[in-house]
Amino acid sequence: MQFFDVAIIGGGPAGLNAALVLGRARKRVVVIDEGRPRNRVTRESHGFLTRDGISPGEFRRIAKEQIQAYPSVHFVEETAHTISGEDGNFQITTGQGSTFRTKKLLFAVGMKDVPLEINGLQEVYGKSAFVCPYCDGWELRDQHLVLIGKGARALHSAKMLAGWTPHYVVCTNGPDELTEEEREELKLHNVPVFDAPIQQINSKDGMVEQVILKDGTQLNCTGIFFAPNLVPGSDLPRELGCQVTETSTIVVDAFGKTNVPGIYSAGDAATQMYQAIAAASMGALAGVGINNELLAEAWNSPSDTKGESE
Ligand SMILES: Cc1cc2nc3c(=O)[nH]c(=O)nc-3n(C[C@H](O)[C@H](O)[C@H](O)COP(=O)(O)OP(=O)(O)OC[C@H]3O[C@@H](n4cnc5c(N)ncnc54)[C@H](O)[C@@H]3O)c2cc1C
Repeated sequence: MQFFDVAIIGGGPAGLNAALVLGRARKRVVVIDEGRPRNRVTRESHGFLTRDGISPGEFRRIAKEQIQAYPSVHFVEETAHTISGEDGNFQITTGQGSTFRTKKLLFAVGMKDVPLEINGLQEVYGKSAFVCPYCDGWELRDQHLVLIGKGARALHSAKMLAGWTPHYVVCTNGPDELTEEEREELKLHNVPVFDAPIQQINSKDGMVEQVILKDGTQLNCTGIFFAPNLVPGSDLPRELGCQVTETSTIVVDAFGKTNVPGIYSAGDAATQMYQAIAAASMGALAGVGINNELLAEAWNSPSDTKGESE
């Protein structure tokens, strides 16, 4: 079994930035990452200063290359499967059979999409169908778009999308929870609402061409925004007792500390602000929080930790 100060589960922007901070702080770190980030479907990631338009794979490659300058950080391409123990002595076993002991844990496990149930949506997801106008709205500016959504969330997204294009319709895809007031509000802003279920999304090479409804309506468009159904990237935090909100977001303080001693979380797993730069920032803060805790523990029991840093 290998021993580390910190195990980071998840190697997306959150986990990688935490690894950078902790590596520079001379902590022994293992990043356990199975390599299935949510944004792997997209070709370009936007809004990260100095990296606008980069592919998610290239972002990770550069990040790992830079972190490798710090020899106390180790990368393991495996899935953390079971974790036991407590603050100061956690044991991790991966699905591939590796075992690790660590003082602190950081869950940077992100969120996962529940498989999409609309015919044809998978083919366009990440190419011309997206979930966040901040990430991909600029590329679809002024185009004719279909917004797929229900109830108050649809109204919220419709208000937001108005900042990128005036040419869009709302498709509720079947039974809907829009109130009369919400419908009136959309009507007042000239946003048509279609209630029939979606039959099929037609596309060519990933580029959407039409959304066909079951009542025969054909909506021509060049892009789609929709609200995905998300589940936690891993059940391990909840199994270990981490408090979560009703949207399965892990509850953390400003430095990523959860309610369970020794366990931290950062990134999409611990916020609903799903942005790579926000995840990286949370990872950096969690790195600082963890390092401060380790420093305080070492300071208070000097004989336990002498000479352990690399
Ligand atoms: C289609 C799409 C487009 C997007 N475009 C943009 C954009 O343009 N700009 C932007 O800022 N954001 C964008 N995002 C959001 C962005 O991808 C996320 O905010 C960001 O990736 C979150 O980083 P993270 O480190 O929290 O999680 P992730 O990047 O999702 O990384 C989590 C990692 O943890 C791993 N993991 C989970 N459980 C385990 C386990 N048990 N053991 C080992 N590894 C595990 C996963 O496999 C994954 O590699 C987009 C998202 C989507 C879905």
